[in-house]
Amino acid sequence: MAHQDCDVIIIGAGIGGLTAGALLARKGKRVVILEQNSLAGGKLSVFERGDYLFQTTCSLFNGFELGGIHERIMAQLDMLLTKQNQNPVWQLILPNHRVNVYNERIALLDELKREFPQAGDKMKNLFQRADEIENGFFDMQQHKNFFCPTGLKEKYIYHRDILPKLTRLTGGLEKKGADLLTLYGDDQEFVKLLDLPIFFHSLLGLKECPLLLAAYILGIPKRGAVYFPGGNQRLIKNLIKSLENNGGKIRYDCRVKKIIVESNQAVGVQLAGGENLRAKEIIANTAIGDLYANLLDDPNLLAKISKKTELFPRQWMPFSVYLGVDEDVLPDQLRDNVFLCNDYQKPIGDTHTLFINISPNDDPERAPQGKRALTVTAYLPFDKWQYAVSSADNKLALTKEIIRELSRFLVFIEDGISFQDSSPIPKQPISALWPQGLLSGLSHTPGGFGFNGYSNYTHYKHLWLVGEDSFPGRGSNLISLSALNLADIICQG
Ligand SMILES: Cc1cc2nc3c(=O)[nH]c(=O)nc-3n(C[C@H](O)[C@H](O)[C@H](O)COP(=O)(O)OP(=O)(O)OC[C@H]3O[C@@H](n4cnc5c(N)ncnc54)[C@H](O)[C@@H]3O)c2cc1C
Repeated sequence: MAHQDCDVIIIGAGIGGLTAGALLARKGKRVVILEQNSLAGGKLSVFERGDYLFQTTCSLFNGFELGGIHERIMAQLDMLLTKQNQNPVWQLILPNHRVNVYNERIALLDELKREFPQAGDKMKNLFQRADEIENGFFDMQQHKNFFCPTGLKEKYIYHRDILPKLTRLTGGLEKKGADLLTLYGDDQEFVKLLDLPIFFHSLLGLKECPLLLAAYILGIPKRGAVYFPGGNQRLIKNLIKSLENNGGKIRYDCRVKKIIVESNQAVGVQLAGGENLRAKEIIANTAIGDLYANLLDDPNLLAKISKKTELFPRQWMPFSVYLGVDEDVLPDQLRDNVFLCNDYQKPIGDTHTLFINISPNDDPERAPQGKRALTVTAYLPFDKWQYAVSSADNKLALTKEIIRELSRFLVFIEDGISFQDSSPIPKQPISALWPQGLLSGLSHTPGGFGFNGYSNYTHYKHLWLVGEDSFPGRGSNLISLSALNLADIICQG
């Protein structure tokens, strides 16, 4: 057998790669993570500008409740992490409504009764039905084989246990969020309110969103969400510490150029500098398009994926504006995570629909006293996004457009801005599927019961996929579930 430098090489130190790496190291595997950037965290990374620390994308973390995915992983890693509950978990703002979505359903229903007094019990019925589905789905996540089945045994378990349960829960996997509205009625303002968190998590409105996914998203506040004082790097640093304490290593500024394949088996990687490393298992924490187009140079597989993606409408692409602002220009009622829509008449999406993450007032690491760090994100139609990022002037014009939309609600904000920057996902490699309007492969496409992506298996032996493109793959919580599954598969095998 050829010399192996370690047991497992992981390409990429995003939340998926780091979680898989830390779990595998804990189980005794010799792990090396190779990260092309000088910082770990991928889309969860933070950046410092002046006195501010900005979170690039992710700001809401779910799965830390008892039995939640992060909680299970932290228990396996003996990881102690300082975190704060976020309650209200998020705030929804429409031209004439403001609703705090609390952890407790009773408190949420009180908010909704105040804003929609005519709704009576209908609102309660809608959330009861959504919660029934979400509770069943949560229980299923504890199931060891809750992932895209590939092997014969997994397929058998999936078809025998999982699929029938999912179908029973939703009343049919083809059902959409519109189904919940039969319990409520088609009130434009109420639908827009629910559209907001659903859109930012799924890139679909409530009515089009698969019912299971809609129920999962509406259930996030009920399960609870947390933030990390000092920012997301707390979570990242803890995962790295756990990896290193168990003998694992992480190498920065280390781009993998190719995966070395011999007789249809992955046996190692070639780095951009020319060095070759060999291992028994190779894990790619990359977008699936990049894996097949760049790392494997397998045009047939890429063509297959591209063909699949042509079936989907062009997707939305994120654009974030980072602002350092004086606290005085923010209204007292404003919460730390806000979904905002300025216009009932326009469909959801684009710059009139924003997600705003505001650094907590008691977090001096994120902003100096009296100031706050804001990340304001809009999802844009692909063509508009492409135009905006094609030149510095276009980018600035879009930034101004977003600030204008923001100031329709935060009327004094422009007077309080002391720092301003913007980006279409900083420090990220351009995914091979971006030109097709896909943020990251298939996890952001509608279809199925809403949770897309490939399994952890690939077309090559000893080559695995983890992260956004591996099922169930959306958000740090479900990405970590894919890492948990993968660590189990590798250690069993
Ligand atoms: C605007 C926005 C807001 C979001 N908000 C939330 C939120 O509030 N809550 C939540 O849970 N999720 C949120 N998400 C989703 C979440 O941030 C991502 O799904 C998650 O961070 C992706 O993790 P990952 O491990 O799959 O990949 P990534 O974070 O993309 O990490 C991949 C890593 O691999 C590295 N890499 C790639 N190719 C190579 C190579 N060839 N060699 C070496 N290294 C390589 C990259 O540099 C990167 O560090 C948000 C996403 C977006 C876009």
